Amino acid sequence: TPTIGVLALQGDVREHLVALAAADALARPVRRPEELDDLDGLVIPGGESTTMSKLAVVFGMLEPLRDFVRSGRPVYGTCAGMIMVADKLLDARADQETLGGVDMIVRRNAFGRQNESFEAAVDMTGIPGGPVHGIFIRAPWVESTGAAAEVLARYDGHTVAVRQGNVLATSFHPELTGDHRVHAFFVDMVRTAA
Ligand code: GLN
Repeated sequence: TPTIGVLALQGDVREHLVALAAADALARPVRRPEELDDLDGLVIPGGESTTMSKLAVVFGMLEPLRDFVRSGRPVYGTCAGMIMVADKLLDARADQETLGGVDMIVRRNAFGRQNESFEAAVDMTGIPGGPVHGIFIRAPWVESTGAAAEVLARYDGHTVAVRQGNVLATSFHPELTGDHRVHAFFVDMVRTAA
């Protein structure tokens, strides 16, 4: 059984812990650098990426998290977590730090200006059994991707799910639905990598 951490500086940590447990992983919240050591994978939750990135600096987690991504152990970011694994941001303050990991440009609050929050069916490559229920909350979209990043889902012409190697990111929040297929997909990535 893989052990998967959920970065617990800020955001919807509990929901990810529940979803990961339902997908047969051992899930635990992570706040300190040494807690990353024995993890097989890591989830970066939804929340507020500006706050999350500031807290990562305050808690001395920024470099350890960057090292974790570089180590090749799988990482999955939802919404604010997607922002955290982007190599570049739009509509963010110039000093907002990310971990990087996916060669993509992510636009913060991209859907938010037209539509604060909405739900939609999303077809996602790699997820069998029909569309997933996408919950978008002041969600980012992926403005562009580099050659190494694979687009897994689009909504309304915008990229909302990507994978590059062992890093997965979605604009939406599968952890807020009772449907654990995306978490199961990530747990499979972790099993394969381990
Ligand atoms: N708008 C938030 C941000 O920019 C993300 C929202 C979310 O995670 N639901 O960090």
